[in-house]
Parts: sequence; C-alpha cells; structure tokens
Amino acid sequence: MKPVLYVVVPCYNEEKVLPITSQLFLDEINLLIEKEKISPNSRIMFVNDGSRDSTWSLIEKLAETDEHFIGISQSRNRGHQNAVLAGLMEAKDMSDITISIDCDGQDDITAMEKMVDSYLEGHDVVYGVRSKRDTDTFFKRFTAESFYKILALMGVEVVFNHADYRLLSSRVLQEFSEYKEVNLFLRGLIPLVGFESDTVAYERNERMAGESHYPLSKMLSLAFDGITSLSIKPIRMVLFIGIILAAVGCLGGLVSLMCGVSIPFICFVVCLFTGINLIGLGVVGEYVGKIYMEVKARPRYIISRRTYDKTNDENKEG
Ligand code: UDP
Ligand code: MG
Repeated sequence: MKPVLYVVVPCYNEEKVLPITSQLFLDEINLLIEKEKISPNSRIMFVNDGSRDSTWSLIEKLAETDEHFIGISQSRNRGHQNAVLAGLMEAKDMSDITISIDCDGQDDITAMEKMVDSYLEGHDVVYGVRSKRDTDTFFKRFTAESFYKILALMGVEVVFNHADYRLLSSRVLQEFSEYKEVNLFLRGLIPLVGFESDTVAYERNERMAGESHYPLSKMLSLAFDGITSLSIKPIRMVLFIGIILAAVGCLGGLVSLMCGVSIPFICFVVCLFTGINLIGLGVVGEYVGKIYMEVKARPRYIISRRTYDKTNDENKEG
C-alpha cells in the first residue's frame, strides 16, 4: 500500500500568494501519485490561522475545485506554531505521513519528493535544511544563525538551518501528541521524540507574493520561547552570576574597609548591580510565567470550520 501523505500548510492573510502556490502544491502531489510513491488519497491541508482577508474563502473554493485540497480553520489567530500543530494533530489519524510547509513558496516545494523517498527508505522524521540563505537579508541570516548557535550553547538540540519544513510519520505524530506543552517550539520538540531521522537540503527562495508575518518582534519572541521552553540554563547562569557578584561584593567591601578606600563611582556600581538583579528576576519571572501558562493547560488550538466532514475520514490505507 502506498502511504497517504498530508501536506500541512499554515496560512495567515495569504490571499495574494495562495492562488500561486496552491497550484504548485497540487502539481507536486499529482506527480508523486503518478510516480506511485504516495496514495491517491493524499491531501493538501490548508490551516487558516484566523486570517482577516479572503484566505478562508479561497481555501473553500480550492476544496470545491479539486478533491486533493482540504482545509481547516482556527477559531482565531494563534500564531504559526499553533497553526502547524492544529494541522498535524488533525492529519495524524487520517494519514501515514505529513509534511509541514509554509504557504508562501519560500521553501522549495519539489524537495517533498526527496523527503518521501527518505521516508520510503525507512526514516520516520525528515528535516528540510536550507542549503543557502542568499535570498534572506544579511540581518535575517545573521540573527537566524546566531539563534541556532545560542540554542546549541543552551543545550537545546536543533537541526542547524531547519525551520518547520519537515516530514513526520504518523507513528511520530502519535507519540508527539503526548507532548502537551502550551509554549510551542516545534523544531526543538521534534528531536526529543526520537526515531530514525534524515535531512534533505533545499534552497530557500523569496516569498512568491504577499508579505512576511514575522517581524523582528515575533522572531525574538519565538527565539526566546525556544530557549526558555527547552533549557533551564539561563536560570543556572543567573545563579552563577549572583554567586560571583556576591563574592566580589564581600571581598571588595572588606578591602575598602580595611584600606579606607572610598569608591567614587559608587552610584554606577549600584545602578549596575540593581540592573543585574532585575535581569535575574526577569529571567526567573519568565519561567514562572511559562509554568503559569502550562498549569492552566488551555487548548492549544480550536478548529472552528472544516471543508470536509470529520467523521468521514476512512482515508488511511497503509
Ligand atoms: N503564519 C501563520 N500564522 C501567523 C503568522 C504566519 O499561520 O500568525 C504562516 C504564514 O501564512 C506562512 C508561515 O506561517 O505560511 C510563515 O510565515 P511568514 O512567511 O510570514 O514568515 P517568514 O517566512 O517571513 O519567516
Ligand atoms: Mg515565509
């Protein structure tokens, strides 16, 4: 039996790019079906992430024109990571494999074939890795690469230059559904699930139309989430710095008392130490905040609409 592939595509205000890329997704799926690598029951699942433009009606129209297109809609905008999660969790019981990919055509759609080949060779996880980032601005490239290095320093296992373009088998998704955390950083969590993995290199292109939804503030917030939801090293570092500063304070105080030296820039010193104190409190607060969100265990996504009937999902073959 050929595996059923579900391509999970998060979409937020993508009315400009969807008409272009939907056809490319369909061509790729049809090619793989023709080559008998995947089942004809394979689907492209668009996840509308609370778009304010005509994205959802476009998805509904696509679903009417070709049976390979289906769509779900989140009840409101929840962000890229939650949109991908909603799609993956929806697809896990209907498919044998999923590939998550952005809808803007930046990630080379034709790399899916190599991913499927790698799955057929026995890999449960196949990471898409950007072979070059020429089309990214210097700033984006620099911040992204520094981010991977900082993550590695913090002991978080991530695949270098891999974003959210990846193939996952339903076996991995079943296990992954047990990870209930609200603070989502998928590319840090998937390696924790384990299983046989492989990488496929692809070239990252320019967006085909529309604009990026990842301004610097969102990028920083994702980076911060990535570190604090997967590593407790920052807390340890704060403790370590605290111990060193306290030791320096004690020794310095003793020396100045014994030798009668007055410190002229004492005000700056006070400022500096108060600042460091606040940073420490902030870091700890960040983790407390995360715990607060986790204990509430609110749903991570709510699907409000589907282009198909959920009960009728006897699609899966192998
Ligand atoms: N996206 C989403 N919800 C959001 C923001 C983005 O589902 O709140 C989707 C978006 O439609 C795209 C993908 O996430 O398919 C990546 O976003 P974008 O291309 O804007 O980010 P960039 O590639 O510039 O980092
Ligand atoms: Mg993009």
